[in-house]
Amino acid sequence: MARRVGEVLVSRETIARMVETVGARISRDYQGREVLLVCVLKGACVFLSDLMRHLDVPVKIDFMSVSSYGAGTETTGTVRILRDLDTDIAGKHVIVVEDIVDTGLTLRYLKEMLSTRHPASIAVCAAFDKPARRKVAVEVEYVGMEIPDAFIVGYGLDLDGRYRNLPDVRVMTDDDGQGGTP
Ligand code: 5GP
Repeated sequence: MARRVGEVLVSRETIARMVETVGARISRDYQGREVLLVCVLKGACVFLSDLMRHLDVPVKIDFMSVSSYGAGTETTGTVRILRDLDTDIAGKHVIVVEDIVDTGLTLRYLKEMLSTRHPASIAVCAAFDKPARRKVAVEVEYVGMEIPDAFIVGYGLDLDGRYRNLPDVRVMTDDDGQGGTP
């Protein structure tokens, strides 16, 4: 069935307030420390660029790219590193910046893998969270906003590489009007 971009679930104004709130929390929690923001490409790039400008602690950034989904919308459970960090994270205060937590498989893998590199601390900051979809337990220290079970696009999130540029978060719907992650 054909899918199309549907209604706005989270407006750009609400997203802006969410980023401000999360940024303030992180700034408070990391006072006196430098943080290394690890952006999980490609979906988190928009959130990273907003979030880093709301932090008033010293910040460095790095990028990694993993594949969790193929061309569809369902996670495969297998996480592959497509691009690793440039930075040695040993002794650093790492915050993994994610676009969305769904089953939790990607984050659990990333957190465990990065922990073996001996960071001083490691936390996760996700713009969006779909707790109803969780398959594995993973602690997400900073969640921008919980959302219902729907496949969303915009604000960095894509479907087959498209729609990342949409400033609002929108729900993908089937032509019969049904939403939800297929
Ligand atoms: P997880 O491993 O938690 O199932 O999946 C995490 C990744 O799946 C996210 O980083 C994101 O790339 C993708 N993902 C999960 N839910 C959605 C969604 O609703 N929309 C989009 N565009 N991607 C999603």
